[in-house]
Amino acid sequence: MSDCIFCKIAAGDIPANKLYEDDDLLAFWDLSPQAPKHFLVITKKHLAGPDDVGEADDQLIGRVLRTGAHLAVENGIEQFRFVINNGTEAGQTVFHFHLHVLGGRSMNWPPG
Ligand code: 5GP
Ligand code: ZN
Repeated sequence: MSDCIFCKIAAGDIPANKLYEDDDLLAFWDLSPQAPKHFLVITKKHLAGPDDVGEADDQLIGRVLRTGAHLAVENGIEQFRFVINNGTEAGQTVFHFHLHVLGGRSMNWPPG
């Protein structure tokens, strides 16, 4: 999608501080970190969010989770929180599927 900021990052049109990239996924540090360590794992394919994921994407989304966990440990984040927002009320601001990986501090529950 031409007006999607994460599609532009995936295409290399907007720079990002990348941790990992392959044909299907990209991980980069969040511009506005909400924890000492905060990165995002996105699909290169434009999916608006969790509610846009189809059966054909099952393997892709599984890889997002596995890659997020693997990269967390690789970057010294042994304990971490995954967040995926869906919709403005949930806090979604970028409508392209992304997994937040946060760590490096104690987390509260329930989340705000
Ligand atoms: P959401 O609120 O949609 O769940 O999360 C979007 C996240 O993307 C936010 O944490 C925000 O800081 C991050 N973000 C938005 N634009 C950019 C950008 O251009 N570069 C990076 N690295 N992060 C971004
Ligand atoms: Zn997109």
